[in-house]
Amino acid sequence: MSGLALATDTTADWTARARRLTPGGVHSPVRAFRAVGLPPLVVDRAAGARLLDVEGRSFIDWIGAWGPALLGHAPAGIVAAVQQAVAEGLAFGLAAPDELTLVERIAERVPGAERVRLLVTGTEATMTAVRLARAATGRTAIVKFAGGYHGHADSFLVSAGSGAATFGVPDSPGVPDEVARATLVAEFNDLAGVEAIFTEHGGRIAAVIVEPVVGNMGCVPPEPGFLEGLRELTRRHGAVLIFDEVMCGFRVARGGAAARYGVTPDLVTLGKIVGGGLPLSALAGRADLMERLAPEGPVYQAGTYAAHPVAVAAGLAMLAEIDALPGLYDTLEARGARLQAGLEDAARRAGVAARVQRVASMWTVFFTDHPVRGWADASHVDRARFARFFRAMFERGVLLPPSPFESAFLSLAHGEAEIAATVEAADGAFREVAR
Ligand code: PMP
Repeated sequence: MSGLALATDTTADWTARARRLTPGGVHSPVRAFRAVGLPPLVVDRAAGARLLDVEGRSFIDWIGAWGPALLGHAPAGIVAAVQQAVAEGLAFGLAAPDELTLVERIAERVPGAERVRLLVTGTEATMTAVRLARAATGRTAIVKFAGGYHGHADSFLVSAGSGAATFGVPDSPGVPDEVARATLVAEFNDLAGVEAIFTEHGGRIAAVIVEPVVGNMGCVPPEPGFLEGLRELTRRHGAVLIFDEVMCGFRVARGGAAARYGVTPDLVTLGKIVGGGLPLSALAGRADLMERLAPEGPVYQAGTYAAHPVAVAAGLAMLAEIDALPGLYDTLEARGARLQAGLEDAARRAGVAARVQRVASMWTVFFTDHPVRGWADASHVDRARFARFFRAMFERGVLLPPSPFESAFLSLAHGEAEIAATVEAADGAFREVAR
């Protein structure tokens, strides 16, 4: 819908109407902007690094659709591919040639992706990964990390990050106790803690699921040796290692975190970038595990919209664009470094205790004077100050993720101008929150 048609429909009107029909007025909790004390941002359209709301306000967007917008919003190549796919039939629910091409492109770049299944959402991919691990090991328990988010399946809603952490609901009502009890929680970057869990429960643990670069408590990099240690521990105890790369896959490197850190998990989940902005996810990994999936094996998983042809077209176009830009990841790294340095300088000038953590094009401003290594650190950041900073940036036309526990995303569309404008806005915003 165009901004013009909605010019009289203010955000307040819209929110009131939406709340009458939809819980909280939004279709995913973080869109409510409650953690920053604002009404939902109601979007009209987005292109490149810019997003326009229905009131005609223009923002430099650092949410990037929560991850997929590696090239910015609406890149021409992906839009054209989608338009063509739409014209060829919206959905078949049957096999089609392009899905195989996409699977080949994934297998060729993701370490350990001997088999690949395409699904729709990240939640489905992680849920299936755990079911597969349980079936293969005959064990029930899983290990996840505090602050790690793997979608909203029951097993994962225990010490989950981002949305759940934002709302202070680490454990959702409605999750059966038996399911929650099967989820053991460790601290990210604390290998000794994971080892202790294995020493006590080793024979019960089907899988360790981890965001190898965490995005869901804000951006937290793995420390040297941590992922290698998880690989070694899981192998020793016969548990399946799952890298949840829904967020960091194809973002922290061409082959994702497994490629960047040289650690090959047993299973990898992908989402976001792999679908080029359309709903598509993937589960990939060791042939002997993946061959257990129906119809080859007995572990059930299915989907009406799995490998949806329009999403497959978008994903293929995305990967083609990435390959057509050989310096892409270096460019993003260089721009990310400039953005980080600019933000750190601005915080220092204002005398604000803030740390910018970044891996490639994932980044977060944490309001704390300690490095954030895991949830024990992240949970102590100054949430009220983040909310004020968010609003000060928002007023200056810069849109950050509306939660202290969500990673921001740099895209190829964020050029020098957008970086400079963001740093300038931060200069004012940090001063404002310093008071
Ligand atoms: N895993 C990770 C690491 C995620 O960041 C997310 C979503 N942000 C998910 C899983 C769930 O994906 P979806 O929202 O598509 O179900």
